[in-house]
Amino acid sequence: MGDLVDKVSLITGGSRGIGKACCYALAAEKSAIAVNYNRSSEAADEIVADLESKGIRAKSYQADVSDPDQTRRMIDEVMGDYGQVDVVVNNAGITRDRSFLKMTVDQWHQVLLVNLDGPFNVTSGLMPQMVERGWGRIINITSIVAQMGNFGQSNYAVAKGGMIAFTKTLAREVAAKGVTVNAVAPGFIETDMTASVPEKVLDTVRQMTPMGRLGRPEEVARAVRFLAAPQASFITGQVVNINGGMYM
Ligand code: NAD
Repeated sequence: MGDLVDKVSLITGGSRGIGKACCYALAAEKSAIAVNYNRSSEAADEIVADLESKGIRAKSYQADVSDPDQTRRMIDEVMGDYGQVDVVVNNAGITRDRSFLKMTVDQWHQVLLVNLDGPFNVTSGLMPQMVERGWGRIINITSIVAQMGNFGQSNYAVAKGGMIAFTKTLAREVAAKGVTVNAVAPGFIETDMTASVPEKVLDTVRQMTPMGRLGRPEEVARAVRFLAAPQASFITGQVVNINGGMYM
């Protein structure tokens, strides 16, 4: 408790699910929290109010991270309020599932824009000040789907696979500057994203998972908290799998 005191963390798509759990996990280490949201201002503000009531500095920031101009505006706002961002959790993500034979170019591009351009927009805007101060943590939320593939998710698998490649390349580029870049690859986690998956499919997922269940957002956020800590200073370019043993 308190490993991230005087640090500032920005969590994209932080208003619910895994992103929300990351806000709380980093706040547990006393980091100030910038909660990015796209549409759900109420949910984001609820988190902010709750964190503030616990003595944590927090504020919500609207931006569609797939839009470079909105992202730049958000970064200017966060930097204006806090003067620095030490930890970035690239968590915002969407799915537009369709078998490849039926997938439209729009579904392909939407997923790449949010899941891959989003992390580019956010990270490129914040990396210079991390390098300048000689400290930073980039944590990318990828997916088991990048490692295993998944029916109906060619767009998502490509975006999440790109994120792993991005993680490893960026890790090499900034390793000597005090900035670590890692990815966390969840298996199937109980959030809004999996809420629409048919129960029959979820049953198959449980059968394929040695632990026999879906994961919880907090179980993903715990790894994010670990990677963000100053003590994780020699870990970079890694993918931490949190999947109940589904992929080893
Ligand atoms: P979720 O749908 O509850 O959360 C996604 C968040 O991203 C939401 O807050 C949403 O508003 C936000 N978002 C979407 N588009 C955005 C945009 N353009 N700009 C800003 N914010 C945007 O789902 P989740 O399960 O919490 O997903 C979080 C991350 O974890 C995603 O990147 C997802 O791909 C990844 N993931 C989830 C699972 C799972 O099983 N739930 C598994 C592996 C990876």
